[in-house]
Amino acid sequence: MANSTAPKSRSRDLDKLLLRPGNLVGPNFEPGAELRDDLQQYARVLVVGAGGLGCELLKDLALSGFRNLDVIDMDRIEVTNLNRQFLFRLEDVGKPKAVVAAKRVMERVSGVNIVPHFCRIEDKDIEFYNDFNIIALGLDSIEARSYINAVACSFLEYDSDDNPREETIKPMVDGGTEGFKGHARVIIPGVTPCFECTIWLFPPQVKFPLCTLAETPRTAAHCIEYAHLIKWDEVHSGKAFDPDNPEHMMWVYDAAVKRAELFGIPGVTYSLTQGVVKNIIPAIASTNAIISAACALETLKIVSGCSKTLSNYLTYNGVEGLHTEVTEFVKDKDCLGCGPGVLVDQLDTSVTLQNFIDMLEEHPKLLLSKASITHRGKNLYMQAPPVLEEMTRSNLGVPLYDLMGKVSKDTLHASGTINKDNKKTSGLRKLRVVFKGIDVVTDMDMAGGAYDQ
Ligand SMILES: [Zn+2]
Repeated sequence: MANSTAPKSRSRDLDKLLLRPGNLVGPNFEPGAELRDDLQQYARVLVVGAGGLGCELLKDLALSGFRNLDVIDMDRIEVTNLNRQFLFRLEDVGKPKAVVAAKRVMERVSGVNIVPHFCRIEDKDIEFYNDFNIIALGLDSIEARSYINAVACSFLEYDSDDNPREETIKPMVDGGTEGFKGHARVIIPGVTPCFECTIWLFPPQVKFPLCTLAETPRTAAHCIEYAHLIKWDEVHSGKAFDPDNPEHMMWVYDAAVKRAELFGIPGVTYSLTQGVVKNIIPAIASTNAIISAACALETLKIVSGCSKTLSNYLTYNGVEGLHTEVTEFVKDKDCLGCGPGVLVDQLDTSVTLQNFIDMLEEHPKLLLSKASITHRGKNLYMQAPPVLEEMTRSNLGVPLYDLMGKVSKDTLHASGTINKDNKKTSGLRKLRVVFKGIDVVTDMDMAGGAYDQ
């Protein structure tokens, strides 16, 4: 960069990818200055998360030629973020991550416009997400990934042959890191497996067998989990342990220290107690940088077509030496996320919206309570905010058939609380609603028969 052939513009490296044809390009790639200019002018990317990965992603995408970025994050900056979330300074502590991250990248990379959104991902209505060409995820929670995945998949429509309609596909690039390990994946709903298709990749957290904790503890973590899972309940009958309550945490720490002394086990500290109880895995800045770089490159490839994309799941492991591998996972054709939708059929035309909402709670494939319902971008009923609830309340008594414009079948979106395995999570579901007695439903329409009730 410092020699006499210094680039005239920051897009020199980008030009090498976008202005020339090649053997490895994607199927619809048309090289040329127009492609580069369109990418800079029109491509809109949403970055979800402004933490360790999100900071890296914003910087990488801005330096890759994207000029229209949005970032959404609900958190405020904490002192403990500063070691790796490199866009933040000590004076930023307490400020919203999204706002500061956007500001810092715009200060450093001229021509880039980043719009921050300081809120929960659920606070945005679904159409907000539809405005982006691609969504890049820098998240650390399964629930948040699952939610964004459901939103992106909700745009997906299938034609009568059950092939995804290309213009409804909302691609995602998902990164994740855990200590020295990480992954980067490309999700093209309807084409490659979505997050729900491969949810088994996230097994439940490994728990120590209770008998080990109770009888033969061998490590400091065993002693902490004994105090947390067994001793707490013995002493505080019925009172739930709150990991965010420092008094509770201190109680577990003290109990773990006593336990460790009894068995002669070293190593119980307050911070280890927090780490074990909250399942905190240290974040490593270099892992974030590597995974983000992979995600930013895939984003550029998807938007520009300058190369075939990762197919479709890259794992990185830097624990011992360095190991990377790409696995091609396959779609689950019965997936509730990216499939054609849960079929709710044989509906009577007299069923009111309120009846319908009640049905969703009982439906074995949905278990969706307190649902808000939208139809083709129109709110039929919204549980919140109060002003929208009031505006849509009168629809509750109206037959759903009338609200949907008296068509025999169509797609609805329902968002609410999913009660599964005694756990409540925010969920969004795509529903294929079919009324009975309106139209003869052909075999073709029933091709997604696996979704039958
Ligand atoms: Zn899926």
